[in-house]
Amino acid sequence: MRLVTYRTAGADADRVGVVIGDHVADITAAAPTMNALIQGGSKALDEARRAAETGARLALAEVQLLAPIPRPLKNVFCLGLNYRAHVAEGASAGVRASSDAPEYPVWFTKPPTAVCGPYDDIRIEPAVSTQYDWEVELAVVIGKAGRHITRDQAYSHVHSYTVFNDFSVRDIQRRHGPPPQWFKGKSWDKGSPMGPWLVTADELGSPEKLRISCRVNGETKQDSNTEMMIFDIPAQIADLSEVLTLEPGDIISTGTPSGVGFARTPPEFLKAGDVLESDIERLGVLRNRIVA
Ligand code: ZN
Repeated sequence: MRLVTYRTAGADADRVGVVIGDHVADITAAAPTMNALIQGGSKALDEARRAAETGARLALAEVQLLAPIPRPLKNVFCLGLNYRAHVAEGASAGVRASSDAPEYPVWFTKPPTAVCGPYDDIRIEPAVSTQYDWEVELAVVIGKAGRHITRDQAYSHVHSYTVFNDFSVRDIQRRHGPPPQWFKGKSWDKGSPMGPWLVTADELGSPEKLRISCRVNGETKQDSNTEMMIFDIPAQIADLSEVLTLEPGDIISTGTPSGVGFARTPPEFLKAGDVLESDIERLGVLRNRIVA
């Protein structure tokens, strides 16, 4: 199933739906919020499937899609430096000493307030920074709690997948340290789009070979494949759950491929009027206009 959180015109209540063709079937009566649906496990998914058969249907084009999880329950877990070519471009651009792949996964987080909808405008503030940058990433939503999750068990803890952009403010990300401190530069209010929907694990199948790309004003900037990850999804889940309990609704953003703005020659950054598209095969496309 493809699961959405949406609003209808003139209403400010969030509703939950299942996308069927170019329509949304309302399942709010069965699943009041996306987090409740995720926490309900496979039983709730079965109920959602049934509710979608009878729920009122609206044209997808007539509703406003929000981030599928509009307010994550905790910070989004993000993996840095998880594609070799992205590690290498950072070294070429002089922001890190080595182009070697990291020996252990490099984690940081971004707060729930950083998330925005799949088609929302992203508001930049030129007085704060002029270095707003893109990072298309595959995001994994946890469905079943676990600690010390093994590689073999990892996929059984995944609820769904979605497209995420780890929007980054480079000068703020880098002006501290050493040691570096990425958190603030990764935490821009409503800068990181998510969606357009959650694609359930049973519907997607394997996430291990999906084309992942990013465009600015229609021009391709990033174009890679999730098979190029240094630490694959089972490795990420095993590594993080070594120290913390992963819970239903937790989001892991799995790192970005090469082609980001800061590493280009000359460097490129987002400015007002640009249209940012984040695209993963079989998951969907985020389309966000940058406004000042
Ligand atoms: Zn990232």
